[in-house]
Amino acid sequence: MRLSSIRMAGFKSFVEPTRVRLATNLTGIVGPNGCGKSNIIDAVRWVLGESARNIRGQSLGDVIFDGSAGRQRLDQAAIELTLDNEDGALGGEHANYSEIKIRREVRRAQEHQSRYYLNGAAARRRDIADLFQGTGLGRGNYAIIAQGMVQGLIEARPEDMRKYLEEAAGISLYRERRRETENSIQRTEANLEQSRQSLRELERQLRHLERQKRQAEEHRALRREFEARENEWISLQLRDERQTLAEQDRAYGRVERDLLGREEKMAAQRAANEALREDYEQANRRLEEATARYYQASAAAAGIEQKLQQRREERARAERRRAELEREIREQEARLQAERERLAQRREAAARCHRELAAPGAEPAPEAEPRAALAG
Ligand code: ATP
Ligand code: MG
Repeated sequence: MRLSSIRMAGFKSFVEPTRVRLATNLTGIVGPNGCGKSNIIDAVRWVLGESARNIRGQSLGDVIFDGSAGRQRLDQAAIELTLDNEDGALGGEHANYSEIKIRREVRRAQEHQSRYYLNGAAARRRDIADLFQGTGLGRGNYAIIAQGMVQGLIEARPEDMRKYLEEAAGISLYRERRRETENSIQRTEANLEQSRQSLRELERQLRHLERQKRQAEEHRALRREFEARENEWISLQLRDERQTLAEQDRAYGRVERDLLGREEKMAAQRAANEALREDYEQANRRLEEATARYYQASAAAAGIEQKLQQRREERARAERRRAELEREIREQEARLQAERERLAQRREAAARCHRELAAPGAEPAPEAEPRAALAG
């Protein structure tokens, strides 16, 4: 396997799309300080999954060309490596490919997320790591020795050094496989335990279902018995109802006949009522006439009574008049009597006077006064 070309676009100082061809096994890049030599190595490490922090950046966006005095910043960066795999060093599913292209892209709009492609197909970072497993390439591995790394290697802690050596000896591949196998065994055991639990749960459900099945069978049997009894009951009920219906029909016939009889009687009654009504009306008319006559007679009687009253009153007045006249007569008679007596007395007196006058020396008596008393 050999890295044959690096294409960079918008990555760090490589603003224009740039291709670096690595024609032989030994390539040197020469340039002044700050011209971008290390950026090329950064590009290779970035494609293999390195984080921005490990290639001298703060965040993912720092790998995108950030602008310069004469150029605007860009919005995306992309790197593509082309690997010559003629010797089949890259195994696994890519062993058949004579050339493998690995690409990584990032956009400012999605600064926290980059996209990987393996031979043009979208891939995960994990796929790239798997591809280089055991080759010494890949993230954090020794095959790429950047500026200052030799110093770092010399000063490495024993455990880091061991990691580098294991990777170099190809042990890491087996270690990784063993780790994966152990993980797989653990997963299988966990699955087994889960399956046992599921089995226990299924057995419990089975027992429950068997219980339900027995109950369902009992229920079905009871249901059949219930339906048979119900049918029996319904037919008995039907028979009773038919009998009742026949009885009711007969009763209805009787009632109908009775009704006809009653209707005839009612017609006769109606005719009788009609005759009675006519009689009643005649009687009523007679009563009205009699009443009219009664009122006439009453009025006449009232007139007579009034006249009678008048007569009574007249008679009472006449009675009173007669009593008055009788009283007056009695008074006149009394007065007459008194006058007669006075007259008699005067006559007597006159007779005496005459006698005296007739006697010598006597004076004659006056006569005018008794006459006046009589006239009064
Ligand atoms: P030396 O010889 O000192 O090691 P070098 O050739 O390795 O230098 P690099 O470190 O590769 O140089 O490049 C550094 C240059 O890249 C700097 O000029 C820096 O401004 C530029 N650079 C880094 N990141 C970006 C970026 N995101 N956008 C624009 N320019 C960048
Ligand atoms: Mg440098």
